[in-house]
Amino acid sequence: MTAVPVVIGARPVAGAPAAERSSGALVDTFGRVHRDLRISLTDRCSLRCTYCMPEQGNEWLAKTSILTLDEIERIARVAAAAGITTFRLTGGEPLLRTDIVEVVRRLSAIRGPDGGAVQIAMTTNGIRLREALPELVEAGLSRLNISIDTLRRDRFRDLTRRDRLDDVLDGIAAAAASGLKPLKLNAVAMRDVNDDELVDLVEFAVAHDAQLRFIEQMPLDAGHTWSRERMVTRDEILATLSRRWRLTPVEGRGGAPAETWVLDDGPHRVGVIASVTAPFCGACDRLRLTADGQLRNCLFSTTEFDLLPILRGDSDDIDRDVDAMMRGCILRKLPGHAIDDPTFLQPARGMNAIGG
Ligand code: SAM
Ligand code: SF4
Repeated sequence: MTAVPVVIGARPVAGAPAAERSSGALVDTFGRVHRDLRISLTDRCSLRCTYCMPEQGNEWLAKTSILTLDEIERIARVAAAAGITTFRLTGGEPLLRTDIVEVVRRLSAIRGPDGGAVQIAMTTNGIRLREALPELVEAGLSRLNISIDTLRRDRFRDLTRRDRLDDVLDGIAAAAASGLKPLKLNAVAMRDVNDDELVDLVEFAVAHDAQLRFIEQMPLDAGHTWSRERMVTRDEILATLSRRWRLTPVEGRGGAPAETWVLDDGPHRVGVIASVTAPFCGACDRLRLTADGQLRNCLFSTTEFDLLPILRGDSDDIDRDVDAMMRGCILRKLPGHAIDDPTFLQPARGMNAIGG
């Protein structure tokens, strides 16, 4: 196995855009061009994964503050005009949104400034996917990531606090049988929870012609229980997998969060998203929109840019003002998230309310 160099943080570039820049691509002061908008459609969820949400006592976003279909479409159009080419729908659980098919349909009709089509990806826990999939595909969905951390029913129940493993497996089977490729499965690796299942999870993915991507657990749980010492690291994951497969690194990662390796002679691959021990901030091309209309330039940002007053206030040019706020948000993006820095502050929102 050959080590792959990792990008830690971004560095300022000469000729970085001026704060008043108001057209062209979304480029930050470190030269990172933003192409990917993660849209959280809801903070609600059908599961209660321990690393994401508390079992009880969630402070839900006010229903009146949740972006409407028209508002989401409007923001997405402005983003596409500024060079965003991929919309990733997430949450919470995006399939809980009753207008999810219409969201996909409206967004997939958007074209970039050169007339190019956009990609619509979705990250889901897979529950209700089998029923929704035909309509989602017909509406223009391009890609799916489905989360599954364990294949054991008792563990799944403990980890998600819901007895829904069969529903998730059903959703994965439906996705594998659909034409949406590549199918990716996400698993958060957790010590003494599922770290003895890493090989099983990859074999399960291979059997579904999917790519398993292990995610290092991040300090984004609503319960604030994360600890660096307990986290299963990228290197530990690779050490476990390399006892079973020969891992050959895939070069040319671009802005992708996962490093990938070919398993034995291929064609199957495995990925690791090492957000904590080998962050990919230097190549980050992502901007985030929460379900209540807050723009965030990083998962770990403690600052948000509120679009609601523009969308629902008395702006005389909503598109112009949304574009300006997007650019202001991007220009304030820091070089990296600094989880390892002693001054690091966990964001007030849990992952379900930010959008993973
Ligand atoms: N409900 C959907 C799902 O679970 O796929 C979409 C939203 S979820 C917040 C998106 C991704 O974030 C999932 O793959 C989940 O495993 C991951 N995630 C949530 N909390 C996390 C944490 N603390 N550290 C790392 N990944 C996390
Ligand atoms: Fe729900 Fe996804 Fe969070 Fe699990 S990770 S609680 S499925 S939003």
